[in-house]
Amino acid sequence: MLYELLIKGGEMIDPKQGIHELRDIAINQGKIAAIAKDIALNEAKKVIDAKNKIITPGLIDLHTHVAEAIMPIAVTPDEAGVYSGVTTACDAGSTGYATFNKFKKLIIPYAQTDILCFLHLSPTGQEIYPEICWHDINPKRMLTLIQENKEIVKGIKIRAGAHLIKNHGISIVKTAKKITNEANIPLGVHVGLGFEDNLPKITLDDFNAEMLNLLDKGDILFHTYTQRDGGVIKPDGSILGELKDAMKRGVVIDVSPAQSHFSFKLAKIGLDQGVIPTTISTDITITNYKGPVLFSLPVVMSKFLALGLTLNQVIEKTTIKPAIVLNEEKNRGSLEVSRPADISILELKKGNFLFSDGKAGNTLHGTQLIVPKLTIKKGVEIETKPRFRNFNPSDELTLTKGA
Ligand SMILES: [Zn+2]
Repeated sequence: MLYELLIKGGEMIDPKQGIHELRDIAINQGKIAAIAKDIALNEAKKVIDAKNKIITPGLIDLHTHVAEAIMPIAVTPDEAGVYSGVTTACDAGSTGYATFNKFKKLIIPYAQTDILCFLHLSPTGQEIYPEICWHDINPKRMLTLIQENKEIVKGIKIRAGAHLIKNHGISIVKTAKKITNEANIPLGVHVGLGFEDNLPKITLDDFNAEMLNLLDKGDILFHTYTQRDGGVIKPDGSILGELKDAMKRGVVIDVSPAQSHFSFKLAKIGLDQGVIPTTISTDITITNYKGPVLFSLPVVMSKFLALGLTLNQVIEKTTIKPAIVLNEEKNRGSLEVSRPADISILELKKGNFLFSDGKAGNTLHGTQLIVPKLTIKKGVEIETKPRFRNFNPSDELTLTKGA
């Protein structure tokens, strides 16, 4: 029997299986048919030469906004997804129970990328800001929706912004936790205020401490390295004690940097003190996907290489780790025979690269850039559209002004 497709000569990195060496991968009928050190060329109808390329499980972006035309700044799903080497994009709260059906019927079926989501606690999700309307939260309706859409809805999202903290306080987190406990899915919490908001630091720290204490194993903290007020890692080098306790309990530390929710300085403080991200994600929207800061998941992964993580680590944090968070580890995040052939073919470019953390106004030099070369989605080849910035010395000045 001839295989339909053979990916030949690539360096396969699959942290779930502990594999980091040359492997050939054969595909049939949308599934991985064989993985071996050498599969002969004449065993396949078509061969992709993957020499000097890295082959990984299809990347998973845990925090995207792809409910296009529902959430005003959401991006076209495949720009966040397959065009960037990402085969599964999880939308983080763009829709709530009142808007989810539009997302399900008008967006999700037309994307080549698999789309999962966190349902927002607010009925209209992030279609309207500020989004929390306490009297309209409807746990019963949410639980029914979650039950009926288990294959899509993988968690609940709230934004711990000024509106929520001032008007409702911790009761909202408790309401969200009741629903996630009953549905047996995780809660994802955004931290960090809007730029126009301000609340006393003491109030914010008290709220965050109480909020973190409510999070259980598998719940997620988004924007962990945010430079905005209301962050958990501080410019003076201190870290909220409750964050470390939460990490010990197994709370997921996510990056979701966007272009104003991240700081290289705070990331270094965190990494030096053991606040290593569980998952690396983007928080991609139309405001950041064309750069000059965020671009795509592979660029965020490259920033973490420049911050000192290994290639294996950044691939683990974008494959099997988010798969576990989404309770999808049996279907996604690893290359095993008989699984769907969701595969990213990446190139590790060497050179001088200048990265920006956006509004925080810091730059970081790196020597490696991960570039998506080809995406395989259920066995189908999809051309990528890599977005990144080539190094140019004059960029340093522009970028440090804060994008
Ligand atoms: Zn977001």
